Amino acid sequence: MSKVQVENIGIFGGGQLGRMLAQAALPLNLTCTFYEAGADCPSKDLGAVFDSTQANALQDFIDSADVFTLEFENTSLTDADTLLTQKALYPPRVALATAQNRLSEKALFDQLAIPVAPYQRVESEADLRQAAASMGLPLVVKTASGGYDGKGQFVVREEAQISQAWQELGAAKLLIAEAFVPFVREVSIIAVRGQDGEVRTWPLTENHHHHGILSHSIVPAPNSTDLQPIAQDYITRLLNHLNYVGVLTLELFVTPEGLFANEMAPRVHNSGHWSIEGAVCSQFENHMRAVAGLPLGSTELISPCMMVNIIGQHPARDAVLKLAGAHLHFYGKEERVGRKLGHVTLIPTQGNTLEALSSALANILPEPLALKG
Ligand code: AMP
Repeated sequence: MSKVQVENIGIFGGGQLGRMLAQAALPLNLTCTFYEAGADCPSKDLGAVFDSTQANALQDFIDSADVFTLEFENTSLTDADTLLTQKALYPPRVALATAQNRLSEKALFDQLAIPVAPYQRVESEADLRQAAASMGLPLVVKTASGGYDGKGQFVVREEAQISQAWQELGAAKLLIAEAFVPFVREVSIIAVRGQDGEVRTWPLTENHHHHGILSHSIVPAPNSTDLQPIAQDYITRLLNHLNYVGVLTLELFVTPEGLFANEMAPRVHNSGHWSIEGAVCSQFENHMRAVAGLPLGSTELISPCMMVNIIGQHPARDAVLKLAGAHLHFYGKEERVGRKLGHVTLIPTQGNTLEALSSALANILPEPLALKG
């Protein structure tokens, strides 16, 4: 079968990830369309948005592009199935389905001998008590599906909290109880796999959170020379097993006993935004190249750098831009507490170290003081 020349890529989701995917696609003469609830979304300036709340929108979206991908992890599997009777979806459905359920995800890590903290399936308060008895406290209890940015989670530190945890999360019916990992730090590895099976990996990124939301990422993760090949091996096992096409992210805990996988995201990831300026080819461009069946670009680092999220409130644009080495990305979103509105990538310049740049930026950002938290 001759290869289809891809010109249009349909993206499930129209958030900032879709916006940055489309921005990366444009110089390759690839245009994008989006499928999102409500037409007012960060991707709207980059291509047509098909409003998923409207009848027939799915078919119109399917008709609008040659090949499809996603930026929204909770993309409906039913919609994916409708699409798959007509056109191709990258990454594959199995990757999406697995990542949507923490129990399936952990089972896959086990199957591929990727270390994870002990965990148990929880379907009742009694199950939760049993998990606490067998695994000990503290336990991190999470809804099996639907949670993000620390939502849908409860850390049970004492037995008295078990009922409360069940009351808060039990409505989800299916939970996972994980042993609490006493991690030293959190890192993520991002890799891309092409349609020919070629895999390329970016350097490990160290991630810092504030109130459960990623606040900033440092790349390369300091002191990670020994960890890089291990993380690379884990993500390569996942990519090859899933016959994956596109960008995959694996979040890992660093512990004195080594790396433990936390979760995977079948998409470009916030901890890879630095790659727009910090790598030869960004996660966004390489994802689009993979989806379109084009050769992959180099994932090599151009410079150590740092990515800082803008959360809740916009900083003064000119104040950020006055910092030499600061690259500003606004997502076109309205301000709201806890909402990701943009990010800044800091690249050291002559006479401006990353430390100096990050403390200057911390004084410009309104709330929260991401770098001080
Ligand atoms: P998640 O939604 O699974 O990415 O979890 C959000 C955050 O909660 C992680 O980035 C960790 O900081 C923390 N966390 C999640 N699971 C565990 C665990 N088993 N042990 C310790 N901390 C955890």
